[in-house]
Amino acid sequence: MSFGARIVIGGILHETHTFMERRTTLADFAAQSLHFGEDLVSAMRNSRTGIGGVIDRAIEFNWQLLPTLYAAAMPAGLVADAAYRELLSELTHRLSRRLPVDGVLLTLHGAMVSESELDVEADILMEVRAIVGDETPILVLLDMHGNISPRLVELADVLLAYDTNPHIDAYARGREAAQIMARLLSRQLRPTSAYARPALLLPAQSTATESPPLSLVHARAAEIKADERVISVAVMAGFAYADTPFTGPSIIVTTDDQPELAQDYATALSDLLYLHRESAAPDFMSPSDAVAEAAQIDGGPVILVDSADNIGGGTTGDGADALAAMLAHGIREGTIVLADPEAVAICWRAGEAGDVSLAVGGKADNWHGQPISVSGSVRALSDGVFKCELADNHFAAFYGNTVHMGRAAWLRAQGVNILLTERKTPPMDLAQLRHIGIIPEAQSMIVVKSAVAYRAAYMPIAAAVIEMDSAGLCSANLSRFPYQHLKRPVFPLD
Ligand SMILES: [Zn+2]
Repeated sequence: MSFGARIVIGGILHETHTFMERRTTLADFAAQSLHFGEDLVSAMRNSRTGIGGVIDRAIEFNWQLLPTLYAAAMPAGLVADAAYRELLSELTHRLSRRLPVDGVLLTLHGAMVSESELDVEADILMEVRAIVGDETPILVLLDMHGNISPRLVELADVLLAYDTNPHIDAYARGREAAQIMARLLSRQLRPTSAYARPALLLPAQSTATESPPLSLVHARAAEIKADERVISVAVMAGFAYADTPFTGPSIIVTTDDQPELAQDYATALSDLLYLHRESAAPDFMSPSDAVAEAAQIDGGPVILVDSADNIGGGTTGDGADALAAMLAHGIREGTIVLADPEAVAICWRAGEAGDVSLAVGGKADNWHGQPISVSGSVRALSDGVFKCELADNHFAAFYGNTVHMGRAAWLRAQGVNILLTERKTPPMDLAQLRHIGIIPEAQSMIVVKSAVAYRAAYMPIAAAVIEMDSAGLCSANLSRFPYQHLKRPVFPLD
């Protein structure tokens, strides 16, 4: 039916943390994924990505694929205007040269923001729509962390999104997008979409699809999808760290020519999410309260989780709020790891057993607290290289089994152990502490800069786990962020 159809494919994906100072440039896209023309197909086919699913299914359909570009970069600050303009013009020029086309299938993130465009995805679709006209179907596969505007819903024929977080169904949704395109090409469908949005923000820590509130919404969405008049249901969790007028969760339901039904379903799902908003509010304690509570617990180290400074989420790894709390409470054998090359250099100059007075942490940006003044002695120095004890390490894909933290120093200040490293390193393995002489099992409390990834290494020795509300760009406490564009009032801020 759609044999030989001329289908344009492409993707531009970025989850933009608008509060992060560092801009995202073309070099950041090139460092992760940047492919043009036919190179896009050879690079991405068979990959477990959304575009991989699109390509594999398209090949089965015997479509004539017209690849434009595929660009993806790690989450970071605003995308530089120059980078965005370059990517958009590659897309539009390559598209214009392939006219006429039968359909356009794009994978976009949904939470991309450039220096001067708050709604990048709608901007992309406006350009594409202007080139292909109103009759050519445009399908978009989104990351479920996208912040979706009504304009984007209007410009696309069908929006789909991943149904899982962690995103294990990207490839399956890519295949589904191609499947829906095939139905559109054979003119079997008249897609009609509706959009609804609860006045709610979800911190990243509350967007797991296996847990409430999203698990409840997905259960109901699965029932709605079973209605044969429904083409797709996108349950968007949103990305709270991109400050835009449409930041937050949203629901997009697309039916086959049933506008009222689409709106009823979208509103019902949005209402359901709002109803369970309290289950999205994270439970956290100030570092001072967390340290005081940890001091009352016997039987091994208490793990103090500093998920606001989640190194795996792109933060600096130098937030020292918890260190200040341990020092203030006179904690013995509390441990924290801080990325602080300046402090490492001072310790190395003093040498092992040397005494130092210096400021540690809080230096890399303005988001991870203040530097803390400490005095102590250098217990040990190391080259910062260690071999992981855990055989199957989650981070091995990035770091390998031998980890290089840059030079390191173990500084002991008032009974607290501070491991200073030149490079930020997630708390993925106990050898990080042990390699320099700090015995994890002998600590009263250990601060980990991670949201979830610390668990494999630290849960086997933990007496308890306490989540802290500390300073950091991945904080679950959204009241820490100075929103300017966000639509108010919104739960839990107002
Ligand atoms: Zn995501």
